[in-house]
Amino acid sequence: MSKIAALDTYDVRFPTSRQLDGSDAMNPDPDYSAAYVVMRTDQPGLAGYGLAFTIGRGNDVQKAAIDTLNDHVAGLDLDEVIDDLGGFAKRLVGDSQLRWLGPEKGVMHMAIGAVINAAWDLAARVAGKPLWRFIADMSPEQLVATIDFRYLTDALTPDEALTMLHTAAPTKLRRTSQLLAEGYPAYTTSPGWLGYSDEKMQRLAREAVAEGFRTIKLKVGMNVEDDVRRCRLARAAVGPSVAIAVDANQRWDVPDAIRWLRHLKDFQLAWVEEPTSPDDILGHAAIRRAVAPVPISTGEHTHNRVMFKQLFQAGAVDLVQIDAARVGGVNENLAILLLAAKYGVRVFPHAGGVGLCELVQHLAMADFVAISGKKDDRAIEFVDHLHEHFTDPVVISGGTYVAPSAPGFSAQMHQDSVERYRYPDGPVWREPADTAKA
Ligand SMILES: [Mg+2]
Repeated sequence: MSKIAALDTYDVRFPTSRQLDGSDAMNPDPDYSAAYVVMRTDQPGLAGYGLAFTIGRGNDVQKAAIDTLNDHVAGLDLDEVIDDLGGFAKRLVGDSQLRWLGPEKGVMHMAIGAVINAAWDLAARVAGKPLWRFIADMSPEQLVATIDFRYLTDALTPDEALTMLHTAAPTKLRRTSQLLAEGYPAYTTSPGWLGYSDEKMQRLAREAVAEGFRTIKLKVGMNVEDDVRRCRLARAAVGPSVAIAVDANQRWDVPDAIRWLRHLKDFQLAWVEEPTSPDDILGHAAIRRAVAPVPISTGEHTHNRVMFKQLFQAGAVDLVQIDAARVGGVNENLAILLLAAKYGVRVFPHAGGVGLCELVQHLAMADFVAISGKKDDRAIEFVDHLHEHFTDPVVISGGTYVAPSAPGFSAQMHQDSVERYRYPDGPVWREPADTAKA
């Protein structure tokens, strides 16, 4: 009987602030980082991989939080974990002492999410399937058994979820073929970082359209005149038929957001992302009412399924971002996807960060095949940074994500990247800034 041997953890940081990649109104100089976890088994070569994404300082805290979970995992039978991913997640989330640090939010919840995701990666590897297919091949009963419905039943009961999944089940095979043939739509944020010059933004926007992207996203929220100019220049660069979304990264108070967005109303924005505090559900609802029909969204910082439930119940958003590494792993994201499907809210997964494109594509694809059945009115974010550090990097073709075929969750990093970018003692962090490669 195989056992989980240990959680090996690493503080991996990429010096992206040196190029202002990833810069926005609230995060001017991020160093994209991963608190990276390897769930090692006693079988040589068999491990599960997961990560929590941070933007630099604090990645050591995130890693320490994952380390506290080692005692919960080391020594477990492998089969006990991968045959009951719902029970495994519930035990980690429900630890009576660790729970005080949330509950179900923040550093500890992200740590738990990274470990749960590593367990799903391991399960998919053992099954020999990419994670999207591993999820899509589950029966409705198996899928529902992975979800914690506590605090959800006023919006979604297990029976309703089962009914939704059974309705989608007979046509899963058709959608699997469709996904393999067509891929899943992507949109790109690469042109839109706030630290880029107008010329660089326009050049990257034109390149994005030439590559087949139908939506681009710009960061906004520092200066309203700059935002109006950048939206105008972006529209000139991409033409009338490509959608433009903007992302304020929580910059505004509610009245500021309403005033600011009136200046941007002529650009027919596809959506406005994170206009205010991610915790302010009623604030999002107020902004949405005031600037209608401009679509409002949030979600990359939404702590858990309970907050998503309230966003939907309050009519606070037109669409949401899910994030593979923010909430309590695959299980909680499946709950969120089911809630979004029930409320008819479109999902545009967040993927600006290291490894997030690799991870979240699996959730969106599983949603298309097994849950919502939809992909053509939504898109996964794509940011063209740091994919070379992963053993199974995303493949983008003609503005779409190509469905991964390698077993697992695509979260494994090259070990030499882990060693090279390890903070603070990896060679990249010991070299002078002007000679280090970002
Ligand atoms: Mg965002």
